[in-house]
Order: sequence, then C-alpha cells, then structure tokens
Amino acid sequence: MKAVVFQGAGEPLEIRDVDRPDCEANGVVVETEACGICRSDWHAWQGDWDWIGLIPTPGLIFGHEPVGRVVEVGADVERFSEGDLVTNPFNLSDGTCPYCREGRANICEKSVPMGFVPFQQGAFAEEYPVRNADQNLVTVPESVDPAAVAGLGCRFATAFHGVVHRVDVTPGDWVAVHGCGGVGLSAVHVASALGGNVIAIDVVPEKLELARELGAIETVDPEGVDDVPQAVKAHTEKSRGVDVSIDALGIAETVRNSIDSLGKGGQHLQIGMTTSAEGGEVSVPVDTMVTDEREFYGSYGMPPNEYDEIFKMMDGGKIDPGRIVTETCSLEDVPDVLDRLGEYDTMGIPVCTEF
Ligand SMILES: [Zn+2]
Ligand SMILES: [Zn+2]
Repeated sequence: MKAVVFQGAGEPLEIRDVDRPDCEANGVVVETEACGICRSDWHAWQGDWDWIGLIPTPGLIFGHEPVGRVVEVGADVERFSEGDLVTNPFNLSDGTCPYCREGRANICEKSVPMGFVPFQQGAFAEEYPVRNADQNLVTVPESVDPAAVAGLGCRFATAFHGVVHRVDVTPGDWVAVHGCGGVGLSAVHVASALGGNVIAIDVVPEKLELARELGAIETVDPEGVDDVPQAVKAHTEKSRGVDVSIDALGIAETVRNSIDSLGKGGQHLQIGMTTSAEGGEVSVPVDTMVTDEREFYGSYGMPPNEYDEIFKMMDGGKIDPGRIVTETCSLEDVPDVLDRLGEYDTMGIPVCTEF
C-alpha cells in the first residue's frame, strides 16, 4: 500500500510502497477515508519534542487525525465489525489504568501516540491499524462527512475537551484565544457555541476573519498594538481582563500574553505545545497568579467517551468542525502541506482525502 514515510529529522518525506498493517488480536485495520494534517506531524518531522521522549525513527508513518472504514477485525474485538465508519483519539489508551477507569483515558498511564511510534503507525497511508479497538474506536455517524471530522482526534478534540471540560466557559464570559491555527479556530468555535464572548488574536488578518465567521466578536492583531494583553483587556468591562484565556500556539510570548490577558480569578488554558525554542519551559508571572488567584489548566486530546457530545452538538447545528477544514489534498501532497504548516502558511485544518 502507499504511505508517506519519515526518513530522518528534517529529511524529505517519501511516498513509498509499504506492507499493509498487521491486525492485532485486540485491534482493527481501517481503510483511510480522511486524515487531518497537523502541526504536531511537522514538529515530529523536524525532530522537535525529544524533551517529551518523542524521537521518531526512519520508516515511521505519521498521521493521527484519521477517519476510515474497518476492513479487518482482530479475534478479541467485540464492539466493531467490518464496514464500520470510525475515528479515534490520537493518544490510544489501555482502558485499565486508574485514569482510564475514571473516564480520563486521554491521560492514560500507558497511552500510545498514534503515528509517532513505530509500533503504532499513523494514517498517512491507504490503511492504518488501531490497537485496543474496543477501548479506542469511536463510531462516526454515517450522516457525517469524514473530511469534516478528521481533526476530531487531535486539534478539534483538544480544543473541545479543554473549553468544555477543563475550564468553565459560561454564557457572557469573555474568552481570549491566542493563535488562530487549526486548534485555535476550533477553540473559538466551541467557546462561541457555549455563549462566550470570544476575542481572537493572530498576526494574519485572514485567520482573524475566519475567527469572526466562527463566532469571535472582537479581534486583536498583535502587529497593530503595543501591548497585546492590554489590547485584549480593553474589550472587556472596565478593562478588567478576560475570564478564560487560551494559548493555542505554545510559544513563550503567547503563553505570557494569555496569562496577562486574564482578570482576577481567571483561567488560563494551555493547548499549544512549545517549540524547540522553549524546549518545554516558559517562565510565567507566578506572584500575580497567586495574588489574583488565576488558574493554569492543560488540555491534552480527548477521551473517547466525549465524542458523542461533539456529534450531538453537530446534529443540533451548534458546531460544525467542517467549517474549519479549508483545504483537502491527496496523499502525494501531504509532504508539501506539512512544509507550508511549518511556515504557518495554511488556514484552518488541512485534510488529506485521497489515498
Ligand atoms: Zn494533531
Ligand atoms: Zn489507561
């Protein structure tokens, strides 16, 4: 089968013929219908993230935002059969550790990140395996366009889980979203659907325009202001600051800007992971966070049991992840799209739909 194959950090990605995946007894093999192309793929390709232990090896197939149809089912799988339309979170879980048992499978003790390790290949290929299928697979309603929900496994899911389940966004709250890439626009869309007054921040005017279409009521372009947090606060009552502020980028400047945009008692949500410039560390204003009782939350993927909330909100017309998908391409185009992601030269969530 055809696949996009990693050859080494920063080396060109190769379209190659490889063996189709083996089906484990508790797993399935899925024929790929769509797979989101994510900044995380770019980070791994560049060899970033060795500080979290992710060191991709040559031969690896990226792709962790898949939707597809089951074509092979392991002997121990009970809940899924051939022909089912399915998706899965990018961080596959075991279903048995204490976190899985309390419904937090996204932070499973034995979680396996799909498409980042050689024993769980990704979906930039005609077929991909999913381990522990009964625990990790999610049925996608047949009414849903696969391209629209590619991205649920990572960017849209991380934004949804963070905005809905980690922080408290209630109608009328001010919510700042720093960085309007795929995950940031997802956060804008979800926070607006919950009734938040969203302020979107980005240096690209077209991304701010898309943020407005997805529900943002105010925007800030950092290139046009001296002080980003003050410009964000100026939109709120008596410039008190926002109730929830989200960093959807992960560079030192946006982490700080996000925390400094908060009012007293505000909640900062970190969604973006840092780049090699930060190496996982950013200094934050600890004393003000103490005296203002500001809170710091992380959001990492989404457990399988929260997908139905997204499908119900889609069915009710409250959210439409497909509106963030601005570009579709074929498997051969994946390396080029990843290149442009590295240059921040894409809009929304690009999705590979031809395999
Ligand atoms: Zn991703
Ligand atoms: Zn677990």
